[in-house]
Amino acid sequence: MSVKITDICIACGACIDECPVEAIVDDDDNPNADAGIYYVYGDKCVECVSHHDEPACATACPTEGCIVWGEIVGDQPHRDGVKRDGSQAVVE
Ligand code: SF4
Ligand code: SF4
Repeated sequence: MSVKITDICIACGACIDECPVEAIVDDDDNPNADAGIYYVYGDKCVECVSHHDEPACATACPTEGCIVWGEIVGDQPHRDGVKRDGSQAVVE
């Protein structure tokens, strides 16, 4: 169960303080070096279940489609395998 931040992130910082479980790190702390985008630790993110009705980070994000938890779109490397129910699809 985790949302993903995709590479259209503009590193604006609007999401990071909204996370109730401190799952988001900024571009400097992104484990994918030089990605230039914010990052969500999948082992921390709870998709805001029991905190908010919807993922608070996605609500705060000004970049439409940047934070996803449902569809796999194009060749976005950080979206692979994420389903809306939080389960992980097999990534080939
Ligand atoms: S969905 Fe909620 S818990 Fe997950 S990263 Fe976004 S704000 Fe944090
Ligand atoms: S709010 Fe959206 S665009 Fe801004 S840093 Fe977070 S994920 Fe990136």
